[in-house]
Amino acid sequence: METFLQHNPTRLFFGKGQAEQIPAELGEKGLNVLVIYGGGSIKRNGVYDSVMNQLEKAEANVFELAGVEPNPRLTTVRKGVEICKNEGIDFLLAIGGGSVIDCTKGIAAGAKYDGDPWDLFTAKHPVESALPFGTVLTLAATGSEMNSISVISNWETKEKIGWGSPHVFPTFSILDPANTFTVPENQTVYGIVDSMSHALEHYFHRTPNTPMIDGFIESLLRTAIATGPKLLENLESFEHRETMMYLSTTAFNGTLSNGTDGGDWASHRIEHALSAVYDIPHGGGLAIVFPNWLEHVLLDDPSRVKQLAVNVFGISPDGKTDIETAKEGAKALREFWSSLGAPSTLRNYDIDDSQFDDIVKKTFIKPGVGTYKKLDEKSVMDILNRSL
Ligand code: NAP
Ligand code: FE
Repeated sequence: METFLQHNPTRLFFGKGQAEQIPAELGEKGLNVLVIYGGGSIKRNGVYDSVMNQLEKAEANVFELAGVEPNPRLTTVRKGVEICKNEGIDFLLAIGGGSVIDCTKGIAAGAKYDGDPWDLFTAKHPVESALPFGTVLTLAATGSEMNSISVISNWETKEKIGWGSPHVFPTFSILDPANTFTVPENQTVYGIVDSMSHALEHYFHRTPNTPMIDGFIESLLRTAIATGPKLLENLESFEHRETMMYLSTTAFNGTLSNGTDGGDWASHRIEHALSAVYDIPHGGGLAIVFPNWLEHVLLDDPSRVKQLAVNVFGISPDGKTDIETAKEGAKALREFWSSLGAPSTLRNYDIDDSQFDDIVKKTFIKPGVGTYKKLDEKSVMDILNRSL
């Protein structure tokens, strides 16, 4: 194992009715609170009313920023920063999925910076501080509710950048599985794919002697494989919603990188480049790219993909070469996601190879893609071609 520091400052409130913790978490009454949310799902399912009720108890002065888009945009971050600066906002409250939370992180950091927030996301300027914020999670997928990562799209330049800072951990997050009952089937599938991808990317590290973390990741993946189909049969099952909610948070809150080199996040980098150009859902892009990344890396070194095939998908290695077993593992992952209804080829989004040069370039928007296998432009092109 490698040396590591485990420190996650987010106070996580998990379970039914936990929104009632909000007044105590705000700490004092009468704060100026900017509530940030998306396109209106929280108004239709009652989450907005229940949170507003808590903010009333906290005697908060409520300001609102609605309309955060999936794949949140820099223009919306700028809007939020302006409200913070003009209104003297003390605290931000994100109500939504990863997009709303990521946008809130951008606003929190941007509010404490004099220049354009894009400077912070491109690392032109370091994040030195941020406004405090909490989250009420409504979609289990990204882990953003308990990490310090955010992904923002600049639609003018067609760039989508992942950035992070210890200053943008949520101070608290409310995870009530009932708040995810209304997540539609397709978004539920994307959430399963995204959380499994986070677990898988952690799995592809090269640190020796990590049996505990490797076993933990394998168990998490087997749990997703067992739970996903049952949840899709009954989207209002509290039991399966709570399993997937805890699973998706754990898949990306730092736990799975304890003692390892952190894993290989090349599939996320390629997906970000894809959705920067085509604005496709993150989980949909990953469902296409990830199995093809597996197919690409197993040709050089099949050992880890073989371990995945055997320990997660129960594939027997008897009488097969390592490459054959590994290939069956990549196929099993693709087939599992397809069985849930996820896309498996770029054709599902009417994407052809005409923009591949640009997508390759955008994958390298920050240097260094891949650690388990360091990718060059040719490798990324190979993965894209396999995804057609
Ligand atoms: P999302 O983009 O936040 O939400 C997708 C859709 O689901 C929205 O249209 C939203 O509608 C709807 N929705 C959310 N909660 C709902 C509910 N309870 N009932 C009905 N509809 C609901 O999805 P996401 O997958 O959570 O986030 C994706 C973004 O996160 C991408 O930009 C991705 O790159 C990023 N990401 C971040 C991290 C990280 O660590 N920070 C990791 C992976 C991915 P409304 O807008 O109407 O609410
Ligand atoms: Fe993700």
